[in-house]
Amino acid sequence: MDDQVIFAARAAVLTDLEARGLASPVSVSILDDACSERRWWLEQWAEGAQFVPGLIAQDVQEALADGLGRTDPAGLWPVCRHCTEGPVHTLHIDPDLGGPDPVWVCEETGTTIAPLGRLTAND
Ligand SMILES: [Zn+2]
Repeated sequence: MDDQVIFAARAAVLTDLEARGLASPVSVSILDDACSERRWWLEQWAEGAQFVPGLIAQDVQEALADGLGRTDPAGLWPVCRHCTEGPVHTLHIDPDLGGPDPVWVCEETGTTIAPLGRLTAND
């Protein structure tokens, strides 16, 4: 069991939330919960390491959407700044399996925006 996988995944998700000004006590607490659950998951299936960062990001997105604001994800989760028209929409992690090589994609167009951990304020 390599905790580095979990640490690196946590850092990647947190970096991206911080890049968008979305790292709050609530989102960080949700992130920590997701990391402990995926740590357990990884203990059962060590080969799953390449999927862990993307899965943790998806866990956090789901928890935020379910508990805090399905109607208005903006302000909680990175939104797409690539599209200049239409309603505000969020980014999500592709592939759905969480990896390998998870990237942020626009929910509406499927456009790849940035690798997980490399999102910027302007992407
Ligand atoms: Zn978009």
